[in-house]
Amino acid sequence: MFLKILENVNLAQYTSWLIGGTADHFCQPTNLEELIQAVRAAHEKNWAITILSGGSNVLVSDAGVRGLTMLLNKFSMISHEIKDDRIIVQCLSGTAKSELLKLFLKNQLPPALFLAGLPGDVGGGVAMNAGVAEAFEPREFMDMVDWIEVLDEKCKIKRFQKTELKISYRHCDGWQPGIITTVQISWPLVVDPQVLTKVREANKIRLSKQPLDKPSCGSVFRNPEGHKAAQLIDQAGLKGFTIGEAQVSLKHANFIVNLGQATAQDTLAVIEHVQKTVKQVHGVQLTTEVVRLGEWSKV
Ligand SMILES: Cc1cc2nc3c(=O)[nH]c(=O)nc-3n(C[C@H](O)[C@H](O)[C@H](O)COP(=O)(O)OP(=O)(O)OC[C@H]3O[C@@H](n4cnc5c(N)ncnc54)[C@H](O)[C@@H]3O)c2cc1C
Repeated sequence: MFLKILENVNLAQYTSWLIGGTADHFCQPTNLEELIQAVRAAHEKNWAITILSGGSNVLVSDAGVRGLTMLLNKFSMISHEIKDDRIIVQCLSGTAKSELLKLFLKNQLPPALFLAGLPGDVGGGVAMNAGVAEAFEPREFMDMVDWIEVLDEKCKIKRFQKTELKISYRHCDGWQPGIITTVQISWPLVVDPQVLTKVREANKIRLSKQPLDKPSCGSVFRNPEGHKAAQLIDQAGLKGFTIGEAQVSLKHANFIVNLGQATAQDTLAVIEHVQKTVKQVHGVQLTTEVVRLGEWSKV
């Protein structure tokens, strides 16, 4: 089968913020063969490659994305086995974290509690080393990972053991450049019969604290060492601060919500205003967790 490459595809629909312009070229590979076809096509045409998976941690520019954008949310497959008192799970990187959640819930295992509040796909979880504030175990995505496989620029698959990667707060490095294709996760088979009740409780708390009824990308800023970004923003009086239709959430100060028609430019202007104000009030420089994709004019 030949992979379809489309032109001028609106990317906002594939992001949790519902913001952003169009991809010049766009494809949605469903298996490794199609992924390799896409990379080869990009090389032939000299297109830069941009990877989008669950789209829950990206700000896509209003000017869109040049080159080839690959949406990986259909590059999805999950299988598991039980071996040496561990559950061993292999997933293609576009597998939704919710699929992992279902598997851990079915087996009554603690990673379900960690995964319950995390949108997006497995590859995004690795690239961002997604994590939670609560003292759950696991607490960061890479806590569960044994190895990842990456398709490199020469279309070769390379496996990286976890010990070969540089893992830090909301980052996983040492595998780039490339596209994460497969991830192996494992966890001890120590059943927690209360895990479903705990997931329901955690979901209730999240719903009460986060503006989950409005498009967002979750927390925009990383927590600076020794601080909570949300607290710094709230104490600087920025809850409700709005430019265009991008607003610092009234419910959770580290969320910027799209009130309906927010542009990437509105959102970036809110981000920069928050950074400037927090620096003035607290002397702390906030840096973003969210990844900017596409073309941005230099200010
Ligand atoms: C309501 C809400 C709540 C959230 N809560 C949390 C939270 O508690 N903790 C947390 O850490 N995050 C949270 N997030 C942010 C986000 O869900 C995570 O960072 C998630 O892991 C991103 O996965 P994704 O598939 O959506 O990645 P995307 O947003 O699609 O991509 C993120 C980055 O990873 C790269 N990438 C993705 N897949 C691959 C791949 N296969 N190969 C190479 N690069 C890749 C992309 O190029 C991009 O740079 C939240 C978001 C929302 C909307």
